[in-house]
Amino acid sequence: MIIVLKPDISKKDELAVLKEIKKLGYKPHVMRGVERTVVGAIGDERTHQNLEALNTWPQVEKVMPVQKRYKLTSREAHKGNSTVNVCGNIIGGKKIQIMAGPCSVEDEKQLLTTAHAVKKAGATILRGGAYKPRTSPYEFQGLGVKGLKLLAKARKETGLAIITELLSEQQAELVAEYSDILQIGARNAQNFQLLIAAAKTGKPVLLKRGLSMRIEEWLLAGEYVLANDNANLMFCERGIRTFETYTRNTLDLSTIPIIKKESHCPIVIDPSQGAGRSDLVVAMCKGAVAMGADALLIEVHPNPAEAWSDGAQQLTIEGFAKLMEELKPFIAAAGRE
Ligand code: PEP
Ligand code: MN
Repeated sequence: MIIVLKPDISKKDELAVLKEIKKLGYKPHVMRGVERTVVGAIGDERTHQNLEALNTWPQVEKVMPVQKRYKLTSREAHKGNSTVNVCGNIIGGKKIQIMAGPCSVEDEKQLLTTAHAVKKAGATILRGGAYKPRTSPYEFQGLGVKGLKLLAKARKETGLAIITELLSEQQAELVAEYSDILQIGARNAQNFQLLIAAAKTGKPVLLKRGLSMRIEEWLLAGEYVLANDNANLMFCERGIRTFETYTRNTLDLSTIPIIKKESHCPIVIDPSQGAGRSDLVVAMCKGAVAMGADALLIEVHPNPAEAWSDGAQQLTIEGFAKLMEELKPFIAAAGRE
């Protein structure tokens, strides 16, 4: 940390600050400029007390971090790109992985029809919510264990890997038994106890961006996964809440180059929650692929008009097959497979 002292600070006040820095376990290094004195506090912030309290001292102008607050997710922590192996499907490698399926698991026919269709079109991972984080308690909350069992059946029949969401720490072990990736939803993106519980299962974790989450906060939330000995973390942009009402959320594609620059972890784009409109999904996918996304998470339903959740944003089976065809030149142009 760098502590900038107020101009015209007395020697006595300066000594008091230096004494406090030492008391907190750091070594102060004084740098005298023409107008101001700046003190570098040397020591590992993880093992020492927080210096930010010095911001409240009248002698102190401001306390500034010199290092990024996110450490394990940062590029500095890991040379090259991390990859996540999901049942042999590498996320973050040359191949862009497609995760597709319904918003919610509704019944066997709906799930299996979708699973076979998305597999035929080229998806490698099946999505489907068994526990749904609904805004209203009066809306469909998901089939729970029955939904997990249907996902397991779909995996057995198609060979697709499974991604599904967990809503609470208590569900972590159970969902990990059935799912190959644990999805942390936007509404739970800063539920740190849930992140820790998901990390501790050892299963890959897909961390959605929260509805009003800053990128630094998202990276710090991801830190909870890596810090709990789980290296298999993916970030997933799914749109943020803005003033715009034309779309459900504002899909922030700038997160692709930003996460690529700041972190070694793969970045996944969810254009379905992102736009909230099926007619925008194809264009959003093309943009995401061109910008370097490692995977796409797309909602597909045999009959979106009758879906039990998120009907407006789900592609039909035919729409998904067409999307997969249309993406091919974009995938090739991006140097991916
Ligand atoms: C979903 O994937 O269906 C979902 C609820 O996502 P999010 O957490 O991004 O809203
Ligand atoms: Mn959904």
